[in-house]
Amino acid sequence: MRRKLVVGNWKMYGNLAWNKALLDAAVEGLRDYRNADYAICVPHPYLWQAQAILQGTNIAWGGQNMNQFEGGAFTGSVAPHMLVDFGCSYVIIGHSERRELCNESDPVVAAKFEAAVKVGMKPVFCIGESREEHEAGEAEEVVARQLDAVLTRVGAEGLAKGVLAYEPVWAIGTGRGASPHKAQSVHAFIRKRIASLDSGVAASIRILHGGSVRVANAAQLLSMPDIDGALVGNASLVADQFIAICRAAN
Ligand code: PEP
Repeated sequence: MRRKLVVGNWKMYGNLAWNKALLDAAVEGLRDYRNADYAICVPHPYLWQAQAILQGTNIAWGGQNMNQFEGGAFTGSVAPHMLVDFGCSYVIIGHSERRELCNESDPVVAAKFEAAVKVGMKPVFCIGESREEHEAGEAEEVVARQLDAVLTRVGAEGLAKGVLAYEPVWAIGTGRGASPHKAQSVHAFIRKRIASLDSGVAASIRILHGGSVRVANAAQLLSMPDIDGALVGNASLVADQFIAICRAAN
């Protein structure tokens, strides 16, 4: 039985006072909900604050990106061990916004996945097709290519050290997510592809769903057999909404 996981992605939002209110509310609201896992990925400058408030609670924290190299002349970048220094258990890798806005290619994403695992973090590895690819019926082809880039680099055993997040790009931030059945069919496809290499890994790896997961659709999405949790953007910025989605996973 795979334990559900809900990961909040704050993106580039927050300030010290606002973060504190949201983190305190999440700690309070989830204290007694111990049948699922939760994490919040905050902007890098606030990792110390997330660590200070969340350590010792049932909510983990993480970064939203990192460099694949251990160190070097990469102005503005953050190395994997730096996230570990602030207690991160998770790091989001290959989010569509970084693939699109920062030209992160499949090989770069695969290198980041490997680097995160090497320092003991769990990458939350995002895959998903764009609207054009979706409309052209290419969803499976695209997620297979993105998945294979990581599988080629680290194998199924390596993949097992992370978490997958299927996020159809056309659903992110739109308020119009994929229907539970449509989402389930791509999740099942992903699991089947992993099973063709290693059935044990396929059975145990968590595949989260992302893209306009809200209070209204969370329970239905989370009831699908191959949806093991959620990666939540917008709704993770509102304490009551994030807590309600986490409780649905619990
Ligand atoms: C995301 O950014 O990963 C995301 C899923 O955003 P939203 O929930 O706002 O669609």
